[in-house]
Amino acid sequence: MTDRPAPTHCPYCALQCAMTLTPTDASGAAAPTDAPPVTVVGREFPTNRGGLCKKGWTSAELLRAPSRLGAPLLRGADGALHEASWDEALDLVAGRLRDIRARHGADAVGVFGGGGLTNEKAYLLGKFARLALGTSRIDYNGRYCMSSAAAAGNRAFGVDRGLPFPLADLDDAETILLLGTNVAETMPPFIGHLAGAQAAGGLIVVDPRRTATAKLADDGRGLHVQPAPGTDLPLLLGLAHVVIAERLADTAYVAERTIGYDAVRRSVAPWWPERVQAVTGVPATTLRRLARRLATGGRTFVLTGRGVEQHVDGTDTATAAINLALLLGLPGRPGSGYGTLTGQGNGQGGREHGQKCDQLPGYRKITDPAARAHVAAVWGVVADDLPGPGVPAIELLASLGRPGGVRALLVHGSNLVVSSPNAGAVRRAVDALDLLVVCDFVLSETAALADVVLPVLQWAEEEGTMTNLEGRVIRRRRALEPPPGARDELRILHELARRLGCTARFDTDPGAVFEELRLASEGGIADYSGIDYALLDSGAEAYWPYPRGGTGTPRLFADRFAHDDGRARLVAVSPRAAAHPAPGPGELTLVTGRLLEHYQSGAQTRRVPELLDAQPELRASLHPATAERLGIADGDPVEIANVLGSVHGRARLTADIRPDAVFLPFHYGDDQAANLLTSDAVDPVSSMPEFKTNLVRVTRLVEA
Ligand code: SF4
Repeated sequence: MTDRPAPTHCPYCALQCAMTLTPTDASGAAAPTDAPPVTVVGREFPTNRGGLCKKGWTSAELLRAPSRLGAPLLRGADGALHEASWDEALDLVAGRLRDIRARHGADAVGVFGGGGLTNEKAYLLGKFARLALGTSRIDYNGRYCMSSAAAAGNRAFGVDRGLPFPLADLDDAETILLLGTNVAETMPPFIGHLAGAQAAGGLIVVDPRRTATAKLADDGRGLHVQPAPGTDLPLLLGLAHVVIAERLADTAYVAERTIGYDAVRRSVAPWWPERVQAVTGVPATTLRRLARRLATGGRTFVLTGRGVEQHVDGTDTATAAINLALLLGLPGRPGSGYGTLTGQGNGQGGREHGQKCDQLPGYRKITDPAARAHVAAVWGVVADDLPGPGVPAIELLASLGRPGGVRALLVHGSNLVVSSPNAGAVRRAVDALDLLVVCDFVLSETAALADVVLPVLQWAEEEGTMTNLEGRVIRRRRALEPPPGARDELRILHELARRLGCTARFDTDPGAVFEELRLASEGGIADYSGIDYALLDSGAEAYWPYPRGGTGTPRLFADRFAHDDGRARLVAVSPRAAAHPAPGPGELTLVTGRLLEHYQSGAQTRRVPELLDAQPELRASLHPATAERLGIADGDPVEIANVLGSVHGRARLTADIRPDAVFLPFHYGDDQAANLLTSDAVDPVSSMPEFKTNLVRVTRLVEA
């Protein structure tokens, strides 16, 4: 194959902006030696309309960067990583896995996947875990992203598709409520879809920080609501209270399309605006104004993000947002709706094909006998051969190296010692493993701890599919031959399965894997059976469910919800005492989040010079009044600490943060890793950790 221009999509976030990659030597002109091997140009596509953010524009920088891994690495007797051949590395991994499995049982081997893997890789990884390893211990980093919204969506609608409508539907909205999402930084081309609502004075942002997105709303026409961290649930209950008390609910819709109204009405009754004001700090008048705007603002959308979901009560908070949308009659109404904004590039597809501990391909429940029988038949085994449900990410990681726990871990597409909560404990647990194998293309903080590192392809070197935040399946296309030392993860899984003596089919061709995925998903919630590469290559829009011989489904819920009776569930929820303790004397609430220049753990973007130059180190955002009280000036070195650990960075003074909070981005490693301070307490429904309301102290450090 020769290098060729390729219409593909960005390797980073779930907006999956379209781009064309052109090899720099395609015209015959020699590329400068330090130039990326492809040029990146934004391409017209409904989510990005030709636009890209800084991360997208610079995405080619890593393709031939010196930091790119070029051969497998094995940890030697001297404790260092040394280059090895592929056969050496794969033989060693298979041998150690066989040995650990024989001595400790199949569940002593764990798999940790990622929301950036293609659908084909996510699917084959789930199959590999259950058939080649025979383990139930598989979960993925999407547990930290979408699990609360997914649980709430399944509970309310009977299905979890981030946006159950095309993103372009937002263009005609008159009112958009954004809860805990900073799209202006995390996915900048998204803001083009907010322009109509902004012009109509209907852009409303709820965020404890005055983010770049909040500033779009705070323009004299819209509204920025700045509640105390961890009080989103009372705020949403208060909005529902006003909607009901002022008879603003769509009673016909509620009667015809939902069940559970009476319980929700009772649950929100105690949340009158003045009480909500006392808890959240949001004036009662603002709450009433907001509720009235949502009810009378014409075409209206309610959208949630990680700010309201990454909590120990994240499922209930997302549920409260859905309840509000249902009371207003939004889901399924033309030009209106509820959605959650998926973050990772394949955060949607990554949770549909079997990486989750309780699911099989097609978004099927692993405990459902019919689902097990269907998938087992596609895989050529009997249902009894499939392991049962495993444990969610936090429980899996807590078991590392412990008696009865996971002793060997395979990591694909995740930098878990930076992105996991209570990262210090995760780091110590990883050290206790008998075997850590990491597939990555750079030596991330997690890869640096591994016994074996297997270098894999980057997005521009592989074929496959992704499913973006709309549930739209898109093609990833190869523009470049991969470097000789790197291998496709499909081939790695094939080789390992063969060495482990598994006779099931593990294709190395992504097209063949997708054909199998179609069969495995057929009849499931996320049904891809009507989609094939030829359809996608034709430019057709392909939203799941897309049954064989049928058509795709851009908009869900027009006539019915996915529960058997076709009705949505209004679910009564209430705040739990002590879920989010308020800061005591000398304490601040730690809010974590993202920056424009970096993506997730930063393992990739910290290796792109332009992005690192713009955001080179951890900056702790503090309100000037707080900083003055603590004796801290802008740029001072600071330590942020709590009982879990401490991190070091520099102070950044800004009135955009509340005086009772400090903001840290989570893109840095080592002693700048914000997740050294976040708790591994989890939401009881979704197992989402608490990333947003941990308590810390900030002190000025004396520079040496
Ligand atoms: Fe890539 Fe997301 Fe930026 Fe688009 S918004 S260019 S998908 S990182």
